[in-house]
Amino acid sequence: MTETKSTCPYCGVGCGVVIESQAGQVTGVRGDPDHPANFGRLCTKGSTLHLTASPAITRQARLLQPMQRGQRGEAPQPVSWDAALDHAADTIAGIVARHGPDAVGFYVSGQLLTEDYYVFNKLAKGLLGTNNIDTNSRLCMSSAVAGYKLTLGADAPPACYEDVDHAGCLFIAGSNAAWAHPVLYRRIEEARARRPQMKVIVVDPRRTDTAELADLVLPLQPGTDVMLFNGLLHIMLWEGWTDAGWIERHTTGFDALKGTVRDCTPDLVAQVCGLRKEDLLTAARWFATSDATLSLYCQGLNQSSSGTAKNAALINLHLATGQIGKPGAGPFSLTGQPNAMGGREVGGLANLLSAHRDLANPQHRAEVAALWGVPAVPDKPGRTAVEMFQAAADGEIRALWIACTNPAQSMPDQATVRRALERAEFVVVQEAFATTSTCAFADLLLPATTWGEKDGTVTNSERRISRVRPALPAAGAARHDWRIGVDFAHRLEARMGRTATLFPYETPESVWNEHRESTRGRDLDITGLSYALLEAAPRQWPFADGATAGRARLYEDGRFATADGKARFVDTVYKPLAEPRESRYPFSLTTGRLRDQWHGMSRTGTLGRLFGHVPEPVVQMHPQDMARRQLRDGDLVYVTSKRGSIVVPAQADTGLGLSQAFIAMHWGEEYLSGCSSTGTPLAGINALTTSAYCPQSKQPELKHAAVKILKAELP
Ligand code: SF4
Repeated sequence: MTETKSTCPYCGVGCGVVIESQAGQVTGVRGDPDHPANFGRLCTKGSTLHLTASPAITRQARLLQPMQRGQRGEAPQPVSWDAALDHAADTIAGIVARHGPDAVGFYVSGQLLTEDYYVFNKLAKGLLGTNNIDTNSRLCMSSAVAGYKLTLGADAPPACYEDVDHAGCLFIAGSNAAWAHPVLYRRIEEARARRPQMKVIVVDPRRTDTAELADLVLPLQPGTDVMLFNGLLHIMLWEGWTDAGWIERHTTGFDALKGTVRDCTPDLVAQVCGLRKEDLLTAARWFATSDATLSLYCQGLNQSSSGTAKNAALINLHLATGQIGKPGAGPFSLTGQPNAMGGREVGGLANLLSAHRDLANPQHRAEVAALWGVPAVPDKPGRTAVEMFQAAADGEIRALWIACTNPAQSMPDQATVRRALERAEFVVVQEAFATTSTCAFADLLLPATTWGEKDGTVTNSERRISRVRPALPAAGAARHDWRIGVDFAHRLEARMGRTATLFPYETPESVWNEHRESTRGRDLDITGLSYALLEAAPRQWPFADGATAGRARLYEDGRFATADGKARFVDTVYKPLAEPRESRYPFSLTTGRLRDQWHGMSRTGTLGRLFGHVPEPVVQMHPQDMARRQLRDGDLVYVTSKRGSIVVPAQADTGLGLSQAFIAMHWGEEYLSGCSSTGTPLAGINALTTSAYCPQSKQPELKHAAVKILKAELP
C-alpha cells in the first residue's frame, strides 16, 4: 500500500489527508495527524473521499475524454486533445479578431489549485488582453476581500485557527460552522469544554446546529447585520467600553462612524433587528470587555447586497475595542471553498492582479506587465460573475470558458444564466465530472483531473498553504487544469503570431515559482516558500525569502497594511435588503449548506451514504406558518419568487422565525423541478434567487429572496 499526503478538496478548513492506494486505486483516506488544520480529524465528507474516487464512480460520473458538439442540440462526440484544443484556439482567435478580447469571458473556480488559477489569470489578462476572468469565489468571499481591504488595507485574514484556543469571546456571525466547517467547529467545542468561562455568541436569523453551544443567540431579522453591529458600537461607546487610546494610536476615521452609530440606539436596533435590548447589551459587553474576542464569519455576511458594509461594520467593532493583533482576537473570515484564498492570492478575479495588486492601480498593472513580459495589462475593468453572464445573455460576451464550476446550477437568477449559455457562440466547459448541469450547454468539453490526481497547492482560511499531491494517474484522458490552460495558450500564441511563449511551464512547481516571485515585497510575500519547504509541512504566509516560519497572526505590532500604517474605520450605513418581503411575496427565503453535501453535489452526490443525513430537498418554515397554510410535513408546495417557481416538500422547523423559509443550496435540476416566471422549464434552488449584488464587492445576495409559498394542489 502507498500513502500519499494531500489536502481535502471540500472546504476552506483545508484539512490534511493521507490517501491510501494500491495498484492504481484509492483504498482509503484518513486525517493527517501532522496537519495543523485538523490534527488527524476529518468530517463525514472528508472521510468518504476515497469512495468518490472508486473505479465505478470514475466510470459513471467522470468526463474521460474531450468531446465536441457539431451543432447545438446534437450529442457531443469524442475528439482528440489536439483536435479539441485546435478547435478552441481557432474559434476564440476568430471571436477576438471579430469582436475584440472583451468578447471572451473565463469563469473559474475556488476548487482550482493556485497553479491552475495563475495560468488562467495570465492567459486572460496577459495573453488575450481581457480582464474578463472571474470565479465562483465571487459568490462566496468577495465581500470579505473588500471588507479587509477597506479597513485593514490588505486582503489578509489576521487570525488563525489556534486563536480559537485563546479566545475569551467567540462572536460567530452568519456562519453555520457546525455544518460548513465541521472540523473547525470540533475545535470550538473542545475549546469551550476546556474553558467554560469562554462566551460564545451566535448571530444568525436561523437557529442552526452552531447555536447549540452558544451562551447567547441573536436571531436577527435577515439582512439587518449592519444595524446590529452599529448598535453594538453605540452601546460600547455609551458604556465606555471602547479603547480610546488604541483607537487614537492605530486608526483613522472614527469620528465619522461615531456620528452614524449615534442614531443606532438600542430601541431602534431592537426594533429593526427583532432582538431584545438586554441581549444587545450582553453581546456588546462580552465582545468589548473580553480579554480576547475572535469573530468567525462566513456567507451570512458575505452573500448580501450589503456584504462589504456588513464585513466592515464587524471589523469596526474589533478596531473600536482593540480586539485584533493579539492571541485569540481578530476578525476571521472563513472561506467556503478549498482554494478561494489561492485565487485571491494570484489575483484570479476581474478586479485583482497577482499578489493582491489592484487592477485599478496603474503602478500595479505596470508591475504585473513587467513580470509577465507583456506590453501592458488592460485597464478596462473585467466583468464579475453576475456581470459576465448578463453580458453573455445580452450578446456582448460571445465565448465563455468555464473551468471546474457549475454556473447552470450555482449562479443566482438561473433564467439569465441559462439564456447566457444558450446565446454564447462558443461555450467551453473544463470539468472532471460529466454530470454537471453546465456540461449540457458545452460546445466543447475538456476532461480535467480532480482530487486524488491533482498536483499543486491550496491556501486555507488561515493563510496556510498545503500541498495537494496525486495518488492516482489521471482518469482516462483527463489533463491537469493548468496543463489545459498552457496547451491552449501555446496554440493561441501561434495564432496571434507570438514567437516566445508566455507559458514555459512543464510542472506545477514552475508555475508556483513564478507566482511566488510575483509576491516579492507584497503583504503576502511568499518568496521564501519553495515546494521543497512545503514538502516538509504546510506553511502560513507571509513567508519572505530567508524566513524560517510563516506568521500565525497579523498586525501584532499595531501597524496595518495602509499607507500610514493605521487601520481605517468605515462609516457603515444600514441599508435594507435588495428584495424585502412584501404582501405578494411574504417569506424571506435563505439558502445554506447541509452537513454532508458539497456545492452542486457532483462529488458528494455520487455516494448514497451522504444522503442519510438529509435525503431530499425540503423547504423549512416555522410550524405556525405551516399551520396557517394548513400544511403538514411532506406536503408539496410551490415556492415562488419574481424569477421562478419550484415544487418542494414542506417541513416544519422551529429554528426559523415567522415568515422565514430555508432551502439547502445543493439541490439542482435532478432534485427540484420548476419553471421561470415566463414559464420556461427551470430547476434548482437558484431558479428563485436574485442576482442583486453588493456595489463594492459585486457579490450577489444569495442569502435572501422574497418568496411566496402555496400548497401544490393535486389536479
Ligand atoms: Fe474536508 Fe472541510 Fe471536512 Fe476538513 S472540515 S474534512 S476540509 S470538508
